[in-house]
Amino acid sequence: MGIGSLTPAGVVFLDRDGVITREVFYPSSGEWEAPMQPGDLELLPGALEALVALTRAGWPLAVVSNQAAFAKGKVALASLLRVHEVFVELLARGGVQLADAFYSYSHPEGVVPGFSGPSLERKPGHLFLVLGAARHGWDLGRSWMVGDRDSDVEAGLRAGCRTVQLANPRAGSKAGSSSPHFRANTLTEASDIILRHGG
Ligand SMILES: [Mg+2]
Repeated sequence: MGIGSLTPAGVVFLDRDGVITREVFYPSSGEWEAPMQPGDLELLPGALEALVALTRAGWPLAVVSNQAAFAKGKVALASLLRVHEVFVELLARGGVQLADAFYSYSHPEGVVPGFSGPSLERKPGHLFLVLGAARHGWDLGRSWMVGDRDSDVEAGLRAGCRTVQLANPRAGSKAGSSSPHFRANTLTEASDIILRHGG
């Protein structure tokens, strides 16, 4: 008898900004960043449809996102929490429900006490992926991590997941960074890869 049917299924872990939502240019910092206010939140074209396709194929979806703006003193934590609420509302309107969402609000060079310095949660740390697997019974070896930064790929690799890196012209890869299993231009392409390869 095979034990396949008893093996817990995997999950698709997703970075949020630059993958599902648009990065926002803030003149105050001169940088493209995660949306800091609910009104700045915008889903990328095709992202919702890609998540619907994964959901229909039976994949649970979990967001794993670094949100360092709070630790850097740029925005109130309440704003980032509200951005997440609006994000969940936008997904729900399109028929997509997240199984879980993990946010790191810390940064190594942060200025907010308790959110600055080393963090196991912040990608490339893979703590949140392991935590999700423990909480939901997901099999990390049958799971995927999709992100646009080297740190997303690294977190996925450390957790033993297969990885898809989306192209982001603003996120240059550092020399010596780990290679993803697959590269894609959009979440649509990434979801096609996942649906083709399965769990
Ligand atoms: Mg990103």
